[in-house]
Amino acid sequence: MAAAGARATAAEAVAGAKGVKEEGFVQTVRGKIAAGELGRTLAHEHVLVDFIGAEQVSPTRYEADEVFRVVLPHLQQARELGARALVECTPAFLARDARLLVRLSEASGLHLLTNTGLYGARKNVFLPAYAHTESAEQLAARWTAEARDGIADTGVRPGFIKSGVDAEPVLSAVQRKLVAAAALTHAATGLTIAVHTGRGPGLEQLDVLKEHGVGAAAWVWVHAQGAKDEDLIAAAERGAWISCDGLNRNSVTRHLHLCRECKRRALLGRVLLSHDAGWFDPAKPGGGTFRPFDLLFAVFLPLLRENGFTEAEIDQLTVRNPAEAFAVRVRVRS
Ligand SMILES: [Zn+2]
Repeated sequence: MAAAGARATAAEAVAGAKGVKEEGFVQTVRGKIAAGELGRTLAHEHVLVDFIGAEQVSPTRYEADEVFRVVLPHLQQARELGARALVECTPAFLARDARLLVRLSEASGLHLLTNTGLYGARKNVFLPAYAHTESAEQLAARWTAEARDGIADTGVRPGFIKSGVDAEPVLSAVQRKLVAAAALTHAATGLTIAVHTGRGPGLEQLDVLKEHGVGAAAWVWVHAQGAKDEDLIAAAERGAWISCDGLNRNSVTRHLHLCRECKRRALLGRVLLSHDAGWFDPAKPGGGTFRPFDLLFAVFLPLLRENGFTEAEIDQLTVRNPAEAFAVRVRVRS
């Protein structure tokens, strides 16, 4: 009890949430809100992503005003279609830009969440040098400080922890360390851990979390649609979140299948939906072709209704599940 109480206190301190119950709030780029205020949420999208690599990534590679002009109409469209919140999953060293997200949130009226953490997928090219030399505890101290004090000098606090691992059969040493650092940060802050995993080692990550006393409910299997059904079901049965976030015209059948499988097994309460769309790419003129955040509303929710999903189930997938998944609270292993 004492340990759990201490963690809850730390989590509340991080969000400045004196008097707010553990399960009660989400940290957006403009401050904390009650989880119940989050509304219909796109659980995994991007405003801006730069794949140049950790060595060269820099805010000087794009004009923030241009990105703002390109992205705002897409956020406004998502809001008109019914979205109220969008989880922006671009990590540090891939052009995470907290100030830009604040401007876009203010102008669009959407709640936006940003993140702390480091992304190891794609063979560690988005990791700064210190990620290779520091311990999990040292990395966690950096991320916990960001959660407590805000990102650089912006005052913007991250709403979750983002990491990424490669689609290998087992975690590499450095990527295992990133997952351990995420677990330690979760224990200190209560922030949810979202890891780009796809067909990579998801269940192994749950074991790493468990070694650090962290429950599966603190972890999101990002790009779950790329993994084997049996692994996803096993993770969901352990309490993990299954993020079916690759919605596009070619993937609706796969996403529908996963929703139906989870419903049949009474696991619909573990599923998140999104497009993994966007994003302004500084390497391309005008940011390249921005993919809109509309297919969920225009195509996929109607498809769910045609396949017997009730409005209550659709609200669960798009409102209640994201509010529970991203509510800031320490989740201990069961
Ligand atoms: Zn993504």
